[in-house]
Amino acid sequence: MSNKVLRNSILSLSMSVLAAVSFSHMESVELVFAQETNSSIGTYTVKAGDGVYRIAVNHGMTMEELKQLNGLTSDLIHPGDILKVYLKENTVTENQPVKEEEEPQDPQNDSTPVNDQTEISNQAIQSNNSTTSNTYTVRPGDYLNKIAKQFGVSVAQLKSWNNLTSDLIHPGNILVVSKSAPVNPQPEQPLDTKPSQPDPSSQSNKTKTYTVRPGDYLNKIAKQFGISVTQLKSWNNLTSDLIHPGNILVVSKSAPVNPQPEQPLDTKPSQPDPSSQSNKTKTYTVRPGDYLNKIAIQFGISVTQLKSWNNLTSDLIHPGNVLIVSKSAVATPTPDQSSDSELNKPNQPSQPSVTKTYTVRPGDYLNKIARQFGITLHQLKSWNNLSSNLIHPGDKLLVSKAIPQTSNPEQPTEDDQPAPTFSKETYTVRPGDWLAKIANQFGITVSQLKSWNNLSSNLIHPGNVLVVSKASSVNPTPPIKEPEKLTSANNYIVKSGDSLYSIALHFGVSVNQLKSWNKLNSNVIYVGQRLNLSPDKTVKQTIPVNSRSVFIDAGHGGAEAGASSYGYLEKDLNLNISRQVADKLRQQGYTVFETRKDDSTVALTRRDDLPNELKTDIFVSIHHNAMPKHLRGTASGILTLYHDRSVDVPGYSTLSHHTDEKLTQGKRLAQELQKSLVAATGGASQGTRPQNLHVTRTTDMPAALVELGYMDNPTELKKLTDSVYQAKLVDGLINGINSYFNK
Ligand SMILES: [Zn+2]
Repeated sequence: MSNKVLRNSILSLSMSVLAAVSFSHMESVELVFAQETNSSIGTYTVKAGDGVYRIAVNHGMTMEELKQLNGLTSDLIHPGDILKVYLKENTVTENQPVKEEEEPQDPQNDSTPVNDQTEISNQAIQSNNSTTSNTYTVRPGDYLNKIAKQFGVSVAQLKSWNNLTSDLIHPGNILVVSKSAPVNPQPEQPLDTKPSQPDPSSQSNKTKTYTVRPGDYLNKIAKQFGISVTQLKSWNNLTSDLIHPGNILVVSKSAPVNPQPEQPLDTKPSQPDPSSQSNKTKTYTVRPGDYLNKIAIQFGISVTQLKSWNNLTSDLIHPGNVLIVSKSAVATPTPDQSSDSELNKPNQPSQPSVTKTYTVRPGDYLNKIARQFGITLHQLKSWNNLSSNLIHPGDKLLVSKAIPQTSNPEQPTEDDQPAPTFSKETYTVRPGDWLAKIANQFGITVSQLKSWNNLSSNLIHPGNVLVVSKASSVNPTPPIKEPEKLTSANNYIVKSGDSLYSIALHFGVSVNQLKSWNKLNSNVIYVGQRLNLSPDKTVKQTIPVNSRSVFIDAGHGGAEAGASSYGYLEKDLNLNISRQVADKLRQQGYTVFETRKDDSTVALTRRDDLPNELKTDIFVSIHHNAMPKHLRGTASGILTLYHDRSVDVPGYSTLSHHTDEKLTQGKRLAQELQKSLVAATGGASQGTRPQNLHVTRTTDMPAALVELGYMDNPTELKKLTDSVYQAKLVDGLINGINSYFNK
């Protein structure tokens, strides 16, 4: 590898380390931001918690540069995304915090762009001797104990150096593995291109790990490994049931248990098993750090083939994606391209199977599969007991049943299916998506989205493939009628593995609410049960006598973004905090109402009409601040606003039926919130003050509006977009509300 490549990698990694390890180092990164570019191009793998802004800053780029370089039309990025970044060699030469400027490199030397393929990921950093702390990038299959052994340190040291509160690590995490004197760990095998070999140390280990895949949940994994959910949670120090694809979980902790082979999918590229030898397709599951070119090389194919076989329109792939990597053209009429058509064993390929299965691939949707197998959508759904059109990559579907198909599957008879000109575009749901967001993204309505995908609820899961465009040359876009059927969408059919808790968590309601809305006397639910997700709209919503009630108003939403800074929108930050506050309050027994639970546009009058109708005890509006453009970045701190008569102006005066008591209590609410927010976050305080705002003026109950920080201030924005700091804000708000009620 060239010296330059080495340096580049060190640079990009050291930046990440700075970002990941300690917040206090961020100031030094600012230096880079200010410097002029003399850059070549490298890649950066998005890590959990990364934002476009942070990545741009860390690479001395503007958001616009980063987005343009990567053809990003939005700020949406996801862990595992590979982004092109400028590598600025004149800013760092070693794996050290960027404190002083190094001597600039020869500009000529910097002008050659480094190609994606030449990126040599992580091993470079390991050989760097001049550092005070060595780092290691977590790979699939790693767990703390293994890494600790590898570097001759203790798990406790690892956790302490990296501020880890649990044992959960993720591929791509950068861990400090040595502090003080330079350490030279044994050179690593470049594992990117090869299946991870069982290394000697892991064979003696008594722990077995499993990498969470899309669609997994704790109960499912527990069953799979014959352990209890309690064991699973205890071994992994899990405090909740929330797991994410890519999480590495300890699933066995005794003596080497079963000679049973490990889950094959995530640890190795799919091995040609006996059955797949007769298959025409081979698949590969994308791992962290993979990119298209790398995979193409690995399988001796071209990127173009890879993209074409997988219907990829961009180069963006994500860990966990299943890609077709081999497609030898054998002219057999059978359309089954799955690698696991169980009843289609090598020995009997030509026999007409009684039933045939197909494994759903990314990009598939029901109609497509139906056409592919010459069956009707109705048949497909009925054979597979599907109540909606939602399928997931990896789902196995019955595509042939009983009577062998007589019609040529390649040319389905004209059924209820549209003409061949019919074309659709699909989108695979990613973590963090919700319907309104996707609808927005594709310029369609939520109703269209639900109708095209036969969704009866708003529930979607990462990995779901949704039809997002229905252009048909035959039928121009059908006229959309918004039926305004709010209630019909508000239910959920219990699936295997669901619990009241998991459903409540998913929909942002409490278990008690679910039970009350569904008249349940216990926590027992059964698969197929239809649960109401909101109180019957025809019944007037009431607040239990003994419950304190809070109205949480997430500022802005939908078409109204609020403040906008470095690609972040205020409405999103507001919603994030609001949802967490609402959930926590519910857990504490409050009755909570929210203006919005998603990215919908809310009329200003609804923000006071609704709480006034519900007569909640208090009203809290959640916002983020920003200075006007010419003063950008000059302010910081938390501010809480309330209404009083001193700010009245003609036409916008205190309402005649509002009492002094309501105003006094509103001020007290503001003060409690401000005090608790500052205490919980250690943030700067701008204090409280009256201001004439619609929501605090027109609400009938004590009301306050919090401005949680300045988005236009880069230092503050970093905190506001950091989940640890966000949790502090949430705590501050909860504490403030509790203090208000307890005095
Ligand atoms: Zn706002």
